[in-house]
Amino acid sequence: MINADPQELAKFSDLAHKWWDPESEFRPLHQINPLRLDWIDQLASIKGKNVVDVGCGGGILAESMARRGANVLGIDLADKPLKVAQLHAMEAGVANLDYRSIAAEALANEQPGQFDVVTCMEMLEHVPDPSSVIQACADMVKPGGWVFFSTLNRNPKSYLFAIVGAEYLLKLLPKGTHEFSRFIRPAELARWIREARLDTVQFKGLEYNPLTRLYKLSGDTSVNYLVACRKPITP
Ligand code: SAH
Repeated sequence: MINADPQELAKFSDLAHKWWDPESEFRPLHQINPLRLDWIDQLASIKGKNVVDVGCGGGILAESMARRGANVLGIDLADKPLKVAQLHAMEAGVANLDYRSIAAEALANEQPGQFDVVTCMEMLEHVPDPSSVIQACADMVKPGGWVFFSTLNRNPKSYLFAIVGAEYLLKLLPKGTHEFSRFIRPAELARWIREARLDTVQFKGLEYNPLTRLYKLSGDTSVNYLVACRKPITP
């Protein structure tokens, strides 16, 4: 059984043609990308490293990491976003960047311990069994390597901001983009990370100001948040 929800994949395929339009439904991903890219690069120094981006979609993060000199493989199970990602990389002439349609669990079986850095952003809240993806990410990374996750917290404020605010009031995202029950509390994510034998290094919040329409990294993990982990050198 593959750990994916066909309806979730279809949602992203239907919108794939808009992926690189910074004013489209993907505006939030375009806006947060420089913030998360700098944070990842500061911690893991990605230049020259082998990086896998799990749930890469149209390739906003994957391509930006390749532009910083990393060798990047982007994987996803939605075909149209992957095609958009491939085409964009080709047109932009970005080297060191490949895309594949393969599940995280399958890649972990095929290439265990092969990557210096694993990124898995805004994806876990769309998957039936997030802990299995986290375990796969842990299996893919080399001892001493870095794994980064980001997702949405589950509490009344995140319901208000991520669903009512983003989908209904501000219309930043299409209605139905997110399902509240799939949001993940930091304590739940931390437990799965521990069970996968990764060490948590840092949690960061991603705050949105609806007045300035700007995001910033902060200590407030109540809505969007990111976590950096490392695989211990000695297990
Ligand atoms: N990580 C990218 C895209 C986030 S959108 C970014 O942050 O810029 C969520 C992505 O997760 C979509 O591309 C969707 O197709 C993908 N996805 C959802 N379920 C998946 C699964 N089970 N396996 C792989 N990718 C999945």
